[in-house]
Amino acid sequence: MESLTDLQRNLLDYRRNLYKPTPVQTVVEWSEANLRLTARQTEHPGPFSTSVRPYTREPMECWKDTSVSEVTLCWGSQTSKTTTLMAGLAWLIANEPSPALWLMPTENLARSFSKSRWLPMLEDSPAMLECFPAEADKITNLEQNFTRSTLTFVGSNSPANLASRPVRVLIADEVDKFAEATAKEADALDLAEQRLKSFSSSKAFMTSTPTVVEGRIWQRFLRGDQRRFYLPCPHCREYIRLEWRQVTWEDHKTEDGKHDLSKIRASAHYVCQLCQGKITDAHKVAALRHGRWIPENPGALPGVRSYHLSSLYSPDRKCTWGHLAVSFIEAKQSMGGLQGFINGNLAEPWEQQDVQQERPETSVEVKLDGGRRYLTADVQAVAPFLWWVCREWKDGNSTLIAAGHADDFAALRRVQIALEVHDMDVGIDSGFNTQAVYDACGAYSTITSNPITYPCGLRYPPEGGLRKPMIIGWLPLKGRETGARFTAQSGTVHPFGLSTSSSMRTDVVQPLLVFDTEHLRDMLSRLRKGDIDREWGVCPTPPVLEAEGAYLANQELYWRHLDSHQLRPVANRAGRIKHVWTKRNQKWPDHLHDCEIMQLAMVMLWNDLVQASET
Ligand SMILES: [Zn+2]
Repeated sequence: MESLTDLQRNLLDYRRNLYKPTPVQTVVEWSEANLRLTARQTEHPGPFSTSVRPYTREPMECWKDTSVSEVTLCWGSQTSKTTTLMAGLAWLIANEPSPALWLMPTENLARSFSKSRWLPMLEDSPAMLECFPAEADKITNLEQNFTRSTLTFVGSNSPANLASRPVRVLIADEVDKFAEATAKEADALDLAEQRLKSFSSSKAFMTSTPTVVEGRIWQRFLRGDQRRFYLPCPHCREYIRLEWRQVTWEDHKTEDGKHDLSKIRASAHYVCQLCQGKITDAHKVAALRHGRWIPENPGALPGVRSYHLSSLYSPDRKCTWGHLAVSFIEAKQSMGGLQGFINGNLAEPWEQQDVQQERPETSVEVKLDGGRRYLTADVQAVAPFLWWVCREWKDGNSTLIAAGHADDFAALRRVQIALEVHDMDVGIDSGFNTQAVYDACGAYSTITSNPITYPCGLRYPPEGGLRKPMIIGWLPLKGRETGARFTAQSGTVHPFGLSTSSSMRTDVVQPLLVFDTEHLRDMLSRLRKGDIDREWGVCPTPPVLEAEGAYLANQELYWRHLDSHQLRPVANRAGRIKHVWTKRNQKWPDHLHDCEIMQLAMVMLWNDLVQASET
């Protein structure tokens, strides 16, 4: 073979250089070199960095990885999932310009996110300024025409704005908060995914903290390859997954019997599930650097990645073992319950219990000293005409005195007197035979010309002035389905409120207590399960009832009524699923259950079931 001339050699070198791969930055390397977060964005301004959150690295590389088509981040709060998406999208705009769509729960949220977080990050990062067009009006909060790519922000509540223009990349953020599809409007996520179909190299990124098992994000997570993050234990060096049940603390109590939160915060730590070694917050942050994602669903379709990450992994100061322990205790005691903690911090869906396998409350005998008794009754069309429950309350704890049925209102009156219940502590359901209930309530009432302010803050009449005398005594009640909320003068929102009965009497006005049935069903269920920090049980010694025309129900019948409703998943027309309380079957009796719900409305009106303290 002839030796090459200098010219030929130079040419060859030139061509080799042409085809030599240039050193390629990963998405993380590019982002760390080019993106800046200023004080407008974060408490820790400076170059974008993954060093304290190494778990964001692998998901970020999915932006570039051509084998990945779908990425689901089912992550807890304080895990930086949105910042991770922002960095990936900035990489895309600068390196692989493509039409993109960012879908958020509402348009307002999208606008404010774009204005306060997204655009400031681009403006503060010099490398991104090259992507901005000369004409300033090409970049608005919702429509951004960069030099070589476009980005549109849309709210799931305005799917009409999802024009037919195709996109290569879809980001759907907080998908479990997206608006439900209606008969008129299709599901926004479905519409958005339709728009990806024109690109064979399309990518979809979905994130959310989960809600229920049937929710969007959990279903997406299950469909993907289910990656979870494993860390080396600093003691046994084995790779472990952080799990809430391994977080432990000493449950100190203060002198008045409350949890001593500062001591709990200080003592909380993680116990390695393999070697029982104590893992501190500092250990965690160090171990994160050596963590790795491991897929656990070999059955996933190729390219469909899903990542689960609880807030236990977050290096944020709100996610130390101590802070999480205190959040857990506070959530358990609050009326909102544990669902927020399980969804938000553990990133797990809320699983509803079905039929109670064991009934802890049957054995719960609650003794009260000097409580207040309430009598509530449910009116029927056929005999027995009235079902009633009498329960005594003190400081939110309560005990069932007696439950049963009665032939008529006069017999119920005898029950009231026998059980020593005040007129104003009797509540009757007015949903059926309404006028008869109003009349009976009027018969056991007194007339007054003074407005009344209940201890919960509600006033009657609500508007203040009293134009006619009012009658006050036995109180008619009416349940409303889902979503009824009532705001008191003070601004406090209650699941119940006061309105005026539509009694045919014209000489007086009569208050009507309305309540949100679903909300109170949830509360009753949580009181029974012990999820609310109050005792709810039965009286150790039921009374002998001497009231003509009235009868006691035995315990078995009482509990059968109480178990009449269960939470069931129900699909709407668009196939989305919600949990709603439903009767086990049409014939299952539920009157005493309804009486117990009315007890809660009455007791809250009189502030005898005060909200558990948040501290
Ligand atoms: Zn260990």
